[in-house]
Amino acid sequence: MDSPFVQRNGNSNLIARSPSLSRGAAAALPKLSLVASAQESPERKKIAMIGTGYVGLVTGTCLAQLGHSVVCVDTDPAKIGALQRGKTTFFEPGLHDLIVRNGCAGRLTFSEDIARAVRESEMVFIAVGTPVGEDGSADLSAVRAAAAAIGRHLNGPKIVVLKSTVPVGCTELVATIVSENSPGDYQVDVVSNPEFLREGCAVNDFMEPQRIVVGTSSAHAEAVMRELYAPLSAPFVAADERTSEMIKYAANAFLATKVSFINEIANICELVDVDVKTVGLGIAFDERIGAHFMRPGIGYGGSCFPKDVRALERLADASSYDAVLLRAVDAVNKAQIARAFARIQDALGGSVEGKRAGLLGLAFKPDTSDVREAPALYLIELLVAAGATVTAHDPAAMESARVATSRNVTYVPHLYEAIDECDVLILATEWDDYKNLNFRMVKKLMRGDVVFDGRNCLDPDKIVTEGLRYLGVGRAKEPLTF
Ligand code: NAD
Repeated sequence: MDSPFVQRNGNSNLIARSPSLSRGAAAALPKLSLVASAQESPERKKIAMIGTGYVGLVTGTCLAQLGHSVVCVDTDPAKIGALQRGKTTFFEPGLHDLIVRNGCAGRLTFSEDIARAVRESEMVFIAVGTPVGEDGSADLSAVRAAAAAIGRHLNGPKIVVLKSTVPVGCTELVATIVSENSPGDYQVDVVSNPEFLREGCAVNDFMEPQRIVVGTSSAHAEAVMRELYAPLSAPFVAADERTSEMIKYAANAFLATKVSFINEIANICELVDVDVKTVGLGIAFDERIGAHFMRPGIGYGGSCFPKDVRALERLADASSYDAVLLRAVDAVNKAQIARAFARIQDALGGSVEGKRAGLLGLAFKPDTSDVREAPALYLIELLVAAGATVTAHDPAAMESARVATSRNVTYVPHLYEAIDECDVLILATEWDDYKNLNFRMVKKLMRGDVVFDGRNCLDPDKIVTEGLRYLGVGRAKEPLTF
């Protein structure tokens, strides 16, 4: 029997049947309280999702959950093959469950056949990657390829929704490419609809978005987009295409700025013997500042902040504007890793050569298997290049780390194995599993006594009580000795 995840011949599997969630099954989903049941979706649409990565897979699956008929396509056959076999290609809380449920209900299929996906859909989403290009600007080659493919297979009017994060003007570029490749004169509205989901809580972020941003100059396309997102009851920000594109970059640049700001404050705190945790608390009560993104660490990573800050800076540069602040945000972030490494070296007597580092956390943040631009991987590069050996653990990201780094790292399945016989214990990602380590056990296992808390999420008192030395980020004069 065919897998329910494979797009079969004929139209049957692209046409959604009414979903029927049992009460128990629905309760098992992550916080879907605000989600109208799929039956409440005003009109069921046939949707193609081009790009089945973090954004495409989450968005496609959640749209299926809302009752739409979604086919997710990708140029990576391994990814599509795995999804067709019911295997989710990365870790994202709640996602696998939804994929299985919607696949079984016939609303969600996976295919390599972009031609058919475009032909049989009324809306085509583009959710391909826009990685950093050689000069720092966004590499739009995947967006261009997706747009050309859509154009080639047009067979009627469609709405094309650009979900990828793209520089100002790209929605118009996509419209041009689609039209240049089209075999006929079809009405195609290309809409900007930037994505704001956060990995680690992406399903909830889709289902309970803080806002929906849509950029279009077409009244028809705006009406369709409003209807599509109506079940989510989120504020709807309507803009033109270019404004919508800029909103996404401005949001990420602001968040990255907050991180680099508190990191810089932490660095100064360290030098003047002040605890940044209390400073953070003291400023966060000011509503104009707020508590979010006020925790210092070893820098931001991930597939968005680093590349989007650089892309916005390049966009400004192309218009002869020197974006001094954005360059500084990026520079502080890069320096944060170098600073962490230097402090670890100092704590180990000036060199890490021949030392063993136990590293906890590889993902760029907790609750994801994504290691793109993860600070932990940069730290590994520095440690190994300086002659240290690294034993690492992560609850979800060891496989992706193994693929992403050429460095010789030992990956261990149990976190205490990473600590065994290490000279320095480094916490690089604040997974819950790491927050309540048994430091008596840690002390017994370690060869050395330095604990570097790169996320300020450990309790220094518990660590020093066991005779270990604690190094946080901006915590006080360090290393503390007792
Ligand atoms: P990703 O790398 O995880 O996924 C992109 C997918 O597109 C890959 O599976 C790739 O094989 C596929 N692809 C590339 N070219 C293709 C083509 N021509 N046809 C079909 N498939 C193709 O990327 P992502 O993290 O999902 O990000 C996608 C976009 O969304 C980026 O622009 C990113 O900046 C933006 N975004 C990402 C996040 C996030 O948290 N990851 C959040 C908001 C916005």
